[in-house]
Amino acid sequence: MKLDEKGLLIVLSGPSGVGKGTVREALFKMEGHDLVYSVSMTTREPRAGEVNGREYFFVTREEFEQKIKDGKMLEYAEFVNNYYGTPLDKVEEQLKLGKEVVLEIEVQGAMQVKEKMKDAIFIFIAPPSIEALKNRLHSRGTESLEAIKERCEKAKREIGLAYMYDYIVVNDEVSNAADKIIAIIRAEHAKTERTIDKYKKLLEVK
Ligand code: 5GP
Repeated sequence: MKLDEKGLLIVLSGPSGVGKGTVREALFKMEGHDLVYSVSMTTREPRAGEVNGREYFFVTREEFEQKIKDGKMLEYAEFVNNYYGTPLDKVEEQLKLGKEVVLEIEVQGAMQVKEKMKDAIFIFIAPPSIEALKNRLHSRGTESLEAIKERCEKAKREIGLAYMYDYIVVNDEVSNAADKIIAIIRAEHAKTERTIDKYKKLLEVK
């Protein structure tokens, strides 16, 4: 019997432009873990190079709204006039298989997961500064000036919610941030409250 069989739900969140996606990619390239990425659903248009089913499941507003009505989303949010959300079925399936499921989502959605999944681990990816965030959004070149301004204002409000999370990881260096997240996941697995019941069962085995 393995002591630690249950999958963990890991929520990476933080303001847009903080580099959540880059940190997540670095995390998945690291060795020695069994992480599964939960591909989100969105109504926004695919950007150049994005593939349906890899970066996102790209759907229409009607399709997304139907999923909401059918209770098929773990969480969702409207962000810059588009829906983004996490399909529930895959997350549940992977957790049952004992996998570590990683969500990379914005703050509103993370707060919904916090209501529903008490056992999840919430990691806030923070920018080293608002200036750094603004620069990142500019250099990405995918947003208009107006949209960047809007995202920065929103980011400030979201940083104010960081206290709701279990951990805050500053994205000063991508590899640094990814290392910290792996360390957090390892430590979470060793938490007494996650393993004590199974440990007790182990003692009962003759
Ligand atoms: P982008 O359009 O730049 O890919 O994403 C915009 C924002 O939506 C990012 O902050 C991203 O993390 C967030 N996002 C991506 N997928 C989801 C999701 O499934 N749920 C929520 N709530 N936010 C998401």
